Amino acid sequence: MLTQRIQAVQPSSTLRITALAKQLKAQGKQVVNLAAGEPDFDTPEPIKQAAIRAIQEGFTKYTPTTGLPELKSAIAARLAKDRGVTFKPEQVAVTCGAKQALFNILQVLVQSGDEVLVPSPYWVSYPEMIRLAGAVPVEVRTEPGQGFQLDLERLKRAVTPRTRCMILNSPSNPTGAILREGCLREAARFLLERGLWVISDEIYSRLVYDAGGSPSVAKVEPALSERTVIVDGVSKAYAMTGWRIGYMAGPPEVVEAAGRLQDHSTSNPASISQRAAVAALTMDQAPVDRMVEEFRRRRDFLVERLAKIPRISFFKPEGAFYCFIDISATGLGSTAFVERLLEEAWVALIPGAGFGWDTHVRASFAAGIEELREGLDRLEKFVRAL
Ligand code: PMP
Ligand code: GLU
Repeated sequence: MLTQRIQAVQPSSTLRITALAKQLKAQGKQVVNLAAGEPDFDTPEPIKQAAIRAIQEGFTKYTPTTGLPELKSAIAARLAKDRGVTFKPEQVAVTCGAKQALFNILQVLVQSGDEVLVPSPYWVSYPEMIRLAGAVPVEVRTEPGQGFQLDLERLKRAVTPRTRCMILNSPSNPTGAILREGCLREAARFLLERGLWVISDEIYSRLVYDAGGSPSVAKVEPALSERTVIVDGVSKAYAMTGWRIGYMAGPPEVVEAAGRLQDHSTSNPASISQRAAVAALTMDQAPVDRMVEEFRRRRDFLVERLAKIPRISFFKPEGAFYCFIDISATGLGSTAFVERLLEEAWVALIPGAGFGWDTHVRASFAAGIEELREGLDRLEKFVRAL
């Protein structure tokens, strides 16, 4: 009865388990939620105030589909300042979360018979969005031992005459790895030579914990910027996941086409959220720095504590707020591991299977130190008893 299109799509494991953990907690269960893919901080006050003002001023009508001019300007200014890339406001489209930006870009760039390269492990939604665009996801495996950097030989082997584009995600969900400038340059030159497009998901680019930051592929290899679309948003850096504001920046014809698609689906993102996003992007950025500082403290605590647990190994995250943990030595697959951990110890993690790696689980450190401490104590007890 349902279409083949939707029958081929898996549910989102990240959303499912995060919702389950929240539900159990609401029922009074002592769940430690290390599954969440969203900051636990509250949205900073100046952002909330801007939204309240928007409501009070009656700013509650349709806006242009791809966003307010002042929001596009604020996005272009931040991209120039934070990422060192230049876009005119008309090369920017505002979307209902970064998710819609990714979805729309894929709809306008790929079609039936095309292949899209996806470094694995990958964020759960990429393969599904690619399939919904009628195309085929092709994995390019990366290795923890190589810091999850792209392997040029593997990349070359994965390309076929049907390859149309590649998705990059740095810092990465689920590994927290950052693609180095040298690796990006090498890959970019190869993609350029092959005439391929790049979708660069930089939603975690503000959340980086070590010197060097997270370079943008469009900055590293400017020649490729003609065929690069950057995706970002306010969800993660400003603790605004519920406000649903993301954006894309890229070549005018792609951005225009994505806007046309949006005209016939959601229209504009919420007018009130757009006003809030203007405030976020233009305010004094100290609240972002404070959140990054706190995430770094939690990251350091998490890796120190994880190192004491037997039979697991992990990659020290360089950005985002996730740690990808190898549980293969426990003999359990990732789904069984996560289910048993939740049932027996009330700790929620995400199975690696949805990210393409059944040998791993993802822990989020978007949780306070005390919650992390409790979660890790329980995880250690659970692993030792297996
Ligand atoms: N890309 C990645 C890698 C993510 O982890 C997320 C988190 N949901 C998104 C995109 C989408 O973010 P948004 O909430 O802005 O839709
Ligand atoms: N991106 C976050 C995560 O990976 C939020 C949930 C989702 O949208 O997938 O957990």
